[in-house]
Amino acid sequence: MAKRFGYLEIATPIIEQLELIQRVGEATDAVAKELYRLEKRGSQNLALRPEATAGVVRAYFEGGLNQGPQPSRLYLIGPMFRHDKPQKGRYRQFFQFNVEVIGGASPGFDAEVIELANGWLNEVGLRDLRLELNSIGDERCRPAYLERLRDYYRPLKSQLHYDSQLRLERNPLRLLDSKVEQDQPFKAKAPKITDHLCDECAAHWSAVRRLLDSAGLEYQLNPYLVRGLDYYTRTVFEFYPGGASGQQDALASGGRYDGLAEAEGWPPTPGVGFAGGIDRVVDLMAAGGEAVLAEPAADVVVLPDGELSVEAAEVARSCRAVRSVAVDYEPRSLRAKMKWANKLGAKWVVLLTSEDAKRQFAQLKNMESGEQVEVAWADLPSRLA
Ligand code: AMP
Repeated sequence: MAKRFGYLEIATPIIEQLELIQRVGEATDAVAKELYRLEKRGSQNLALRPEATAGVVRAYFEGGLNQGPQPSRLYLIGPMFRHDKPQKGRYRQFFQFNVEVIGGASPGFDAEVIELANGWLNEVGLRDLRLELNSIGDERCRPAYLERLRDYYRPLKSQLHYDSQLRLERNPLRLLDSKVEQDQPFKAKAPKITDHLCDECAAHWSAVRRLLDSAGLEYQLNPYLVRGLDYYTRTVFEFYPGGASGQQDALASGGRYDGLAEAEGWPPTPGVGFAGGIDRVVDLMAAGGEAVLAEPAADVVVLPDGELSVEAAEVARSCRAVRSVAVDYEPRSLRAKMKWANKLGAKWVVLLTSEDAKRQFAQLKNMESGEQVEVAWADLPSRLA
């Protein structure tokens, strides 16, 4: 899906500098509470990456992608690490599909990554989705909004949960996504940031929605969808399974991070992207009866009779020029071999008997139609192409 949108794959190390991770993620649970730090080796403090974006932005500058055509459209698939209580949908090593557009400020990029995320989830069979959307402004309009938010919450302070009381002055945006029951009654009347955007942010916000409308993408505006870090700007979004009500089980989360490059110490560079949870997506696919192993392990299997391992390997070698091929070397019955071929989902079976081998012939069976023909070894690749 990312390739169809013109994105190139990037791979960054799973071990990152502790300082980089802390600098950009301090206020998140993933860094403050769940980080796997490595024992110090030499002069460097290192950690297992809890998320990908910080490393991708670092690589964009260190690898000179900032000198190439802008923006850079990048995707990354790989493991992330967070120390939490393991449970369904929450693992200590989990896989993310990350998509980042670095060096692009236009609202078209925001809408594009949202459409890409939606396309990815649809493509693997997940169609009953809920997309939530918000804008959290930028460094021009957010400070004044945060003051309003503090003014609203200050008289209510004693009624808030203890953690929320601590957040009130430091990070009041986080009061809006508090999961604690005690804090819920106060949210409805809290000022909404989308009512207090500066002109530029308001124009960006309406452009993103117009683009999503024209893409036929439905979304719910959620004024409580926020990020607790200053470098996030404007668009934030999350995809949930249609049936789920909680905020715990997002399939993909993303947004704009125009301040991140600067937070890492690079020149100001806009960016937008998302992280999709592959483990959660696969769990849902399996629960919905979707075939998780959609592709056969091999298109062709070679089933040799008796002692024909050398011949089978030779036939397989020539066929690999055109198809994926697996050989059954086990001395089991033809019935057992055919059962194995079926389980692999092979489309063709090449049967090698001692008789046929003398003439360098094989029986080629089409597993779908059941049709079986005799083919010279030399002709197998062209028959399978
Ligand atoms: P985050 O980086 O926290 O915004 O997470 C992005 C996506 O990664 C989430 O929407 C989840 O689908 C997935 N995810 C986050 N943490 C975990 C975890 N511990 N186990 C499995 N998936 C996760």
